[in-house]
Amino acid sequence: MPGVRPPVPLRGERVVAPGVEGAWGYRWGFTTRRGGVSAPPYDALNLGGAVGDDPAAVAANRSAVAATYDVPPPRLIFMAQCHGTRVVRVDGPWEGDPPACDAVVTTRGDVALAALVADCTPVLLVDPVAGVAAAVHAGRPGMTDGVVGETVGALRDLGARDLRAVVGPAVCGRCYEVPQEMVAAAARRSPVSATVSWTGTPAVDVAAGVVDQLVRAGVAVDWVPGCAREDPDLYSYRGDGLTGRSAGVVRLLAPTSPEPGGTS
Ligand SMILES: [Zn+2]
Repeated sequence: MPGVRPPVPLRGERVVAPGVEGAWGYRWGFTTRRGGVSAPPYDALNLGGAVGDDPAAVAANRSAVAATYDVPPPRLIFMAQCHGTRVVRVDGPWEGDPPACDAVVTTRGDVALAALVADCTPVLLVDPVAGVAAAVHAGRPGMTDGVVGETVGALRDLGARDLRAVVGPAVCGRCYEVPQEMVAAAARRSPVSATVSWTGTPAVDVAAGVVDQLVRAGVAVDWVPGCAREDPDLYSYRGDGLTGRSAGVVRLLAPTSPEPGGTS
């Protein structure tokens, strides 16, 4: 038997016990390159299963993240991300292959939801009163097409009234040069996402657009700093091409039921 692994380091980690902000608690955070077993160029905590890394290394890395969130590995839920706006509800491990979607929502405390990124913006949401959570993969197309709003709507359909969100590290606007027509499309959804690159060319700040959309939807937001392309501890597809994926991961912590006849 392998020994007990240390938890993987998480950026923006927050752990709120049940009963503090609502009946439900939650744990959220963002993985980096650190704490895994993958060899270069995927070193070390690559969680992406479709980037050419050794499947055994990816499985070991995913197990380490699952252990950090105290769920069995099959209950760390990944999507088949496709830069769309589809939101899928999760009640347990997928039966068969993961569905093509870019957001997952749940009302359960026995799953952890993951959104994979390498430059794109990972977003995690919870309502600890209603007991709902979501993980979102928001790249430029998803932000432009409204995946954030779709996810907030799905959570409110499940009873959410007091949502809070955390937006993880992503490629920054200075490092994300794109053609002017992409800037214009993004700006139609969120004007603040239109920016310029380090060399003054048209660029999109996807995370700023995501934050703007969350705030306008009435969601309280924390924004974790760090540019994927500039920070060597993060994976960047733009910067590195062949590389790994990190993840934003969120888990609800179920209300602690009082012991029948107990005194606590
Ligand atoms: Zn940058």
